[in-house]
Amino acid sequence: MGFFINFLKKETLNPLAYNFLTASCSYQRLKTAEVSIGNLKLGNGHPIRIQTMTTTDTMDTLATVEQTIRCIEAGAELVRITAPSKNEALNLQQIKDELHRRGYYTPLVADIHFTPNAAEIAARIIEKVRVNPGNYVDKKKFEFIEYTDADYLEEIDRIRDRFTPLVKICKEYGTAMRIGTNHGSLSDRIMSRYGDSAMGMVESAMEFLRIARDESYHNIILSMKSSNPQVMVQAYRLLVQTMQQEFGICYPLHLGVTEAGDGEDGRIKSAIGIGTLLEDGIGDTIRVSLTEDPEFEIPVCKDIVSRYNNRTASVALPAIDKLPYSPFEYARRKTFAVDNIGGKQVPVVVADLSSRDSIAPSDLQSIGYTYDESTDKWAIGDAAADYVYSAERPITFALPGTLKNIVNASVWDASSDSQFPIFSLADFVAANSKSTRINFVMVDCFNENHGVLPEQMNTIQQAATDQTVVFCLSSENRNAMQSVRRMFIELTNLGICNPVVLVTDSGMHTPDEHLIHFATETGALLLDGMGDGISLGFNGKAIMENTKAKGRTYLPVKDIYQFTNNTAFSILQATRTRISKTEYISCPSCGRTLFDLQETTAKIRAVTNHLKGVKIAIMGCIVNGPGEMADADFGYVGSGPGKITLYRSKEIVKKNVDSEVAVGELIQLLKDSGAWVEPA
Ligand code: SF4
Repeated sequence: MGFFINFLKKETLNPLAYNFLTASCSYQRLKTAEVSIGNLKLGNGHPIRIQTMTTTDTMDTLATVEQTIRCIEAGAELVRITAPSKNEALNLQQIKDELHRRGYYTPLVADIHFTPNAAEIAARIIEKVRVNPGNYVDKKKFEFIEYTDADYLEEIDRIRDRFTPLVKICKEYGTAMRIGTNHGSLSDRIMSRYGDSAMGMVESAMEFLRIARDESYHNIILSMKSSNPQVMVQAYRLLVQTMQQEFGICYPLHLGVTEAGDGEDGRIKSAIGIGTLLEDGIGDTIRVSLTEDPEFEIPVCKDIVSRYNNRTASVALPAIDKLPYSPFEYARRKTFAVDNIGGKQVPVVVADLSSRDSIAPSDLQSIGYTYDESTDKWAIGDAAADYVYSAERPITFALPGTLKNIVNASVWDASSDSQFPIFSLADFVAANSKSTRINFVMVDCFNENHGVLPEQMNTIQQAATDQTVVFCLSSENRNAMQSVRRMFIELTNLGICNPVVLVTDSGMHTPDEHLIHFATETGALLLDGMGDGISLGFNGKAIMENTKAKGRTYLPVKDIYQFTNNTAFSILQATRTRISKTEYISCPSCGRTLFDLQETTAKIRAVTNHLKGVKIAIMGCIVNGPGEMADADFGYVGSGPGKITLYRSKEIVKKNVDSEVAVGELIQLLKDSGAWVEPA
């Protein structure tokens, strides 16, 4: 396996074989094969399709039809329905007929796990089936098995025997298929040979894809989902690379982050994973999995997809002939430390309060610092910013020890211990007065309106020789992320190791759009190890339509500074570059779900949200839950009506606990495992 990855790395450097080389600094959509799902065309440059999945019991025809209609009315172009057994698969006929009777012809997808016979029925009824190669033939027992090559080939033959009948039915009926790999449910066979890796995910899908191609069946879409956006992004990229090398074509890709959770965190995780790939030009259809009603996923999908309507390539950023980073493996860009920025330290958060008319101690509550006047003490939250930018107005009161003030160089007080200057690139090089500790230097990356200026790099190189310089990279270009990424490539190629703060402004209008913009623009860089800090702000005045405008409800925002600060920490958490809170991996629920996931997730969140760094999975069913909860530390999994099974990692700790007392039992498990602290 090591050899194979090295081989791929070498191929990555071949500009002819690897289209990410140009895509890394210029937007271009990956060309994929065209697939038909009923009347819907997907791939081959067709618009990025939006889809979701019902959460009702598939045997409840009316409830499923009505929820499907709500999703279609919201804008879903495909609706997936779970078919855990033959009965549900057969009932898809009733659901389809009722939808047609009511005038809805949107293609339906059957979601299959473990039950080939259900898949073979569904494929004769509806437009598409989704199979999970991790559990279509294999049963997962979390066992490590040593396979000889001959044993392994025998296993592939076993898959071929079981999977080919479905392929033949799909071919005969014109049914499309998604080969949908999930990181959490890789088979023991794949795990034993490839480990818990992006390569394992790719190979899991490729085994099925090769069988389908051998039958000359090509109406195929693939997915590589994970609850960890980093793993997910690497797996999709590797899949594209592998398909190109093996077949010379790419099948269309369905993008999604599994078990993303709810609210702001669910949206951020999804936007980072899906958005990073869409920025790379990868992705033909998306699903945002939220622990919310499925129709609420659609506006989030629309916000993500609308960023790519009419997107064109960047205006001539300088071309590159090799990538100095691997898109398949995370490695943080090497930097030296300037004070608490860069080196091996977690990325810092710079709160931009420059648009406030004035800044009082109480205003710092928005960015994690609560001042108690009676004791003259600060309480510092887990999501407390490291720097506050106040432009022309230096902060005059004593700041808490963990917070420093960045001001424009023209008003900087050189005698202050907690104040640091920010310069334009040209001003820094010409300046007489500079900090001996930290100088922030703004760089507008390859501004396409002014033309690409090669001389900018000379000035950057000059500034970079100063070991106190932290570059603040931003771009106003159409493809801002690619422009900043191009600058990172240049810095790396020139051996420049100064730390970098990513400065991202949003010109969007709604909280959800801002969130997606920030998450995509910065997340795409952080996932590839680029960035030692982030600063989020707005183009001009922040516009925040947080009412029920345009017929939908947006995330509530009371305080824009708190919103941007929390968003910054959530992005760092989702990219796993800085952990500041509990992480929840909760499934979106489906027809298999055994309890009210939304209510239970809220209950668990309320009592555990102070457990920084602990990963808790809340999964609706025992069939898929344990596999899908991936790298969670603890699992709360529905195992029967009114029954919950509790896990510590993959180990069952308590079986079939009464759901009335299960949250209390989870707390006890956290205590017994040393993961509990009393809330402050
Ligand atoms: S884990 Fe959740 S979404 Fe997945 S099959 Fe089970 S109940 Fe459905």
